[in-house]
Amino acid sequence: MLDKKQIRMKLEIFLNSVEREFTDIYIAAVDAAKNKRIKKYIFKPSGKTFWVVLGKEKKEYLVTNWINKGNVIYACSCPDYLFRAMLKTKSKKINRRNFCYHIIARIISELNELKKELGEDFNERFLPTIHELKDDSLKDFLKRFI
Ligand SMILES: [Zn+2]
Repeated sequence: MLDKKQIRMKLEIFLNSVEREFTDIYIAAVDAAKNKRIKKYIFKPSGKTFWVVLGKEKKEYLVTNWINKGNVIYACSCPDYLFRAMLKTKSKKINRRNFCYHIIARIISELNELKKELGEDFNERFLPTIHELKDDSLKDFLKRFI
C-alpha cells in the first residue's frame, strides 16, 4: 500500500517528466487547472469519488485511476487517450503515450490537494471544484461518459 507522501512523490516525478518531454500537454493541463475546469464529484453516503475534466471543446471527460503493483495508473474517456494509449499499431509516426492532458490536469489538481492534506505549500487555484451528489444519481452520472 502506498501512503500519501509516497503518492505525492510519484506524482511529482511524473509531472516533472511530462513538463520536460511533453511541454504542450503540460501547458494545456495547467490551463485547465487554472481555469477551474477540474471537478471532483463526491457521492454520498458511499463516499465514492470521480474526477471530471471539462475539455476545451466543452465536453466533459472522466479521468479514473487505480493502483497496480505500486504504480498509479490513469485512464481518460477522451478520444485522444483512447487513440494514443490503446492503439495497437507499430507505426513510428504515431507518438504513443499513456496519458492525455486531462489526466495531467487531474494529477496537477490531485497533487495540490495532497499537499494541502499533508500541510505543505500548495496552490489554491489548482484545487478541484467539489460537487456533492447523492448515491442514487450515480448511474445517471456515469451514463454521461458512455
Ligand atoms: Zn483525456
